Amino acid sequence: MTARNLRINPTRLWDMHMEMAKIGPGIAGGNNRQTLTDDDKLGRDLFKRWCEEAGMTVSIDTMGNMFARRPGKNDSLPPVMTGSHLDTQPTGGRFDGIFGVLAALEAVRTMNDLGIETEHPIEVVNWTNEEGSRFPPPMVGSGVFSGTFKQADAYAIEDVDGATLGGELERIGYKGDVACAQRPVKAFFECHIEQGPMLENEGKSIGVVTGVQAMRWYKGRVLGEARHAGTTPPQNRKDALTAASKLFIEIDAIMRRRGDEGRCTVGLAQAFPGSPNVCPDRVEFTIDMRNPTTDELNAMDRELRAAAEQLYTETGCGFELEESWFSEPTVFAQECVDAIRNGAESHGHGWREIMSGAGHDAVHMNRVAPTAMIFIPCTDGISHNEAEYASPEHIAAGADTLLAAMLEFANVQE
Ligand SMILES: [Zn+2]
Repeated sequence: MTARNLRINPTRLWDMHMEMAKIGPGIAGGNNRQTLTDDDKLGRDLFKRWCEEAGMTVSIDTMGNMFARRPGKNDSLPPVMTGSHLDTQPTGGRFDGIFGVLAALEAVRTMNDLGIETEHPIEVVNWTNEEGSRFPPPMVGSGVFSGTFKQADAYAIEDVDGATLGGELERIGYKGDVACAQRPVKAFFECHIEQGPMLENEGKSIGVVTGVQAMRWYKGRVLGEARHAGTTPPQNRKDALTAASKLFIEIDAIMRRRGDEGRCTVGLAQAFPGSPNVCPDRVEFTIDMRNPTTDELNAMDRELRAAAEQLYTETGCGFELEESWFSEPTVFAQECVDAIRNGAESHGHGWREIMSGAGHDAVHMNRVAPTAMIFIPCTDGISHNEAEYASPEHIAAGADTLLAAMLEFANVQE
């Protein structure tokens, strides 16, 4: 039999999204279901019930990651794993993360409907604290699973009220007894909304995600001289804010020279002493730079430093740039990328390859097993916003593609 163009049940998948969205509603049609809150517990309970109704066995690890397992014919083989996260931002949408978990569950329900057996077991996962809004940093559950983070450090993270991640896991009853640690996984797939506008702009239904961009963060300072705003003529000024503004325009130009391939953001800037009638003597700011390759990211770094040199000569203000974080690009496994592309093609869905601009649990899982992601469009590229929307048709297209890719790895019985 060919497993390639089986269709999931689109109505059932959409209805699950709408059911889940009732838990932890936001104030503007989205969701506020932050990790390890009472509402997160209710969302987890509902997911667990659905999985058990689909004949799966749910286990919880010591980080609260939930694994729903459908046995394989040879149950000692490593599982094909798929999923994402049910937690949301404080003003989050109904699809970010949720789509990846529910598409995985729907794929299993479809396999049940069609009586499909696989050699490898299938596991549907809900990772704890992907968002990181309540307990920063993000992607902690998959981070501990992959060995990137230490569990003790994760347990100690506090929210703004001083509650710890470990304490809250226990309070909502989701600190499980299975050790949270790497184990053999045949392949990992994650469905997610794009959270950007590229698929929608091109009218494509499926993003075949080949990896995640390299990223570098900086803390920057511009140093000038505080002077009286009314008495200091232009030639006597070393205005740090004017100098910083020139640099910010250069930073934007570094991005635009790279078309679609680069990202530069000054997300935070503050001038000191911060008085209306004093030329600022100091500006502190952040830079977030991203590119698909480390080489290009390094080239962007050189252009940034050259621009700062040039502006020092022009303005007399000092520029300091301190790298505060670097993250290597993630390159997903070619065999998983191929399986996703084949799945999209066999269903006749328009697709394009795409690099993710955002981090995902799949980045950590890429260290454990061959991994890749499936993106679908979301309206206007809006995400981390209650207005976030993905259409039932695109959700179904993503889940169909996921099912095809999973079955390619799980060895369907003829
Ligand atoms: Zn997400």
